[in-house]
Amino acid sequence: MYRFAPSPTGDMHIGNLRAALINYLCSKQEKTDFILRIEDTDKARNIAGKEEEIKEILKLFGISWQHYYVQSENLKFHRQMALKLVSEKKAFACFCTEEELNTKKEAAKAQNKPYRYDGTCENLQDNDVLENEKPFVIRLKKPEKAMKFKDFIKGELCFEPENIDSFVIMRADKTPTYNFACAVDDMLEGVSCIIRGEDHVSNTPKQEHIRASLNYEKPMTYAHLPIILNEEGQKMSKREAHSSVKWLLESGILPSAVANYLLLLGNKTPCEIFTLDEAISWFDLQKLSKAPARFDLKKLLQVNREHIKRLDDTSLNALLKTDKNLAPLAKFYTQEASTLVELKEKLEAIFAKKAYGEFEKECVILKEALEKCELKENYEEFKQELIKLSGLRGKNFFMPLRIVLTGSTHGPELTELYPYLKPFIKELARKV
Ligand code: GLU
Repeated sequence: MYRFAPSPTGDMHIGNLRAALINYLCSKQEKTDFILRIEDTDKARNIAGKEEEIKEILKLFGISWQHYYVQSENLKFHRQMALKLVSEKKAFACFCTEEELNTKKEAAKAQNKPYRYDGTCENLQDNDVLENEKPFVIRLKKPEKAMKFKDFIKGELCFEPENIDSFVIMRADKTPTYNFACAVDDMLEGVSCIIRGEDHVSNTPKQEHIRASLNYEKPMTYAHLPIILNEEGQKMSKREAHSSVKWLLESGILPSAVANYLLLLGNKTPCEIFTLDEAISWFDLQKLSKAPARFDLKKLLQVNREHIKRLDDTSLNALLKTDKNLAPLAKFYTQEASTLVELKEKLEAIFAKKAYGEFEKECVILKEALEKCELKENYEEFKQELIKLSGLRGKNFFMPLRIVLTGSTHGPELTELYPYLKPFIKELARKV
């Protein structure tokens, strides 16, 4: 059982989408279920509408799920399990105030030592706990032994008890922390493999320790995906436009191209251009590199051009929102434009009212000739006839011809463009 567990706290980051794609692929390969779990327990950070947006985005990418959970609906289980841990003395109520903890953190910092919880409330007598009216959090006692787990990408990882520490599982407002809710839900939902970004590596021993403390014995496997760096080699922050899936889609990059690109990152694939469905037959988690991947917009745009060329005409026309069959022309223009937005601009320039500039007189003559001329198969014959009909020569012929047909004085070779433009030439000639 695989799962994708996004928080509805912001725009979906490409790192999250990569985790979703890979979880989905692995679930398909193993013919097991895929869970979508919305991790909404941090109420203050939730953003209205993001849950729906996540679902819409996943659907656009062809990712479907068999089970859907909203984490906050499991609150009663989180509380029950926390109580169980407290009653078994595996967890304890901690009354230390924020201020007290901050002072201790400052002191550790001043001594250049990492801060660790000092156990102040760990051995309070039951009565002291029950009679204390102050707000409290619940901490899980740190493990006695090192926690080890196997990662398909990173190999075996081991964390010492000191580095896991006695950490908070329930906040003072009686809501679970991320680690607790996540570990309990993965257990209740029967997840068997967790694939997520490597920023979660340090959470994994905590989550393992939570489940072990609850006597859950089913082994969990992991793959922590290397982070995606930006083109300057720094961690790609959520604020960078390119890192937002929504931004990439709004820029006119096809979901299939984004998916293809994200699966190419740090991977050895048998081919460069593929669909998510095709990747099911060969994707291998263990081929992913341990090293951070570097985001390369140029490469993504190249992949996008290839995906545009592979679309069938009906789909491409629908994406271009046109009633005409502009798909062949659009595919031809991928030599100059990489996204749907850029392609629309190119096509709009062709069908827009043209600015004739210094060639006004010639353009008018040429349009009349275009209305009369026969649209020959081949560009050379078409050109000869047009020269004869218009009486224009050299620059005074080519420049106006480009302007009338494309709206621009430069662009692809007319010989190559002609067959794609042919179905529209009469319409362009009539345009004022
Ligand atoms: N809600 C967490 C996140 O979006 C989930 C991490 C995980 O997969 O456990 O980062």
